[in-house]
Amino acid sequence: MSLDELYQELLLDHFKHPRCCGVVPQPDAASALRNPLCGDEVKLSLSIKNGVVSEIAFSGHGCSISQASASMMSDLVKGKTVAAVRQAIRSFQSLMQGNDQLDISTLGDAAALAGVRKFSARIRCALLAWEALENCLGQLEKKN
Ligand code: ZN
Repeated sequence: MSLDELYQELLLDHFKHPRCCGVVPQPDAASALRNPLCGDEVKLSLSIKNGVVSEIAFSGHGCSISQASASMMSDLVKGKTVAAVRQAIRSFQSLMQGNDQLDISTLGDAAALAGVRKFSARIRCALLAWEALENCLGQLEKKN
């Protein structure tokens, strides 16, 4: 199996069996974003305990890339410190901007989205959930 095929399977697996699906009750931060170009929607909610993402969940609909990315991202950042989450967001954005010098091992399954860069119109789909995550961190900063 080639790396491309492996990545494709991972993407479909997250799309068909999304991780962290749903809504966090009484979240510390929440964000809902749309990608009108593709009709994607991602609603993200999360809770922080002792500086760590204790709970995270998303709901939404749209193309396989947007939903798989939300699933991969949620799965990745659950249990991570806010600082580590910021680092993951930066790494993923950098990956999507075409950086190939990255240590993608820190991105978990989300590294599989590297192939999306070949289709520039879909990069927005992949970034949607991560932008919602960034919004959530912004809300947390305002609270503190
Ligand atoms: Zn899309």
